[in-house]
Amino acid sequence: MRQITYSAAQQHYMEEALFEADRAAWIGEVPIGAVIVHEGHIIGRGHNFREHANDATLHAEIRAIEEACATLGSWRLEDCQLYVTIEPCLMCSGAIINSRIPTVFYGARDPKAGAVDSLYNTLTDSRLNHTVTVYEGLLAKDAGERLVTFFKAARQRQKAAKKARKAAAKVAAEKSLDTSSKS
Ligand SMILES: [Zn+2]
Repeated sequence: MRQITYSAAQQHYMEEALFEADRAAWIGEVPIGAVIVHEGHIIGRGHNFREHANDATLHAEIRAIEEACATLGSWRLEDCQLYVTIEPCLMCSGAIINSRIPTVFYGARDPKAGAVDSLYNTLTDSRLNHTVTVYEGLLAKDAGERLVTFFKAARQRQKAAKKARKAAAKVAAEKSLDTSSKS
């Protein structure tokens, strides 16, 4: 489902999710953030934490769901809205369904892993016992730009590291040549 105009409150919650994405970027994690709103209050927030925890399941949505469940003291997140900067993957879509979240707002699509619109339609599959109302595109540009910037910087770091390794190898080779010529 698409919605062209969003309320100021909806934009505010997505900005909070984008702030979570920034927190991920600051610590070198892929910048994806999420918040869960219940009766106008943010009751769960999360950003990607996979690298720091060495835990493949620690996506932004999972962390936000865990916190929201703890806040409400319930695994059922009925009457909640999830805001996430990037289209949820298969794992997170599964968690959204299992926690009974009725409404999801996401920013940009993920053509390689998105399980809401891009590769699968998990959240709106009527064969499941729970379906979700989905709004895509809210502050999508801001969400996408964060990913592009992050991966561009990561590639530059990789390039610089490769150059440094090559330079170090050259110095080492010259050094060994130097010592062998002396002996
Ligand atoms: Zn995920």
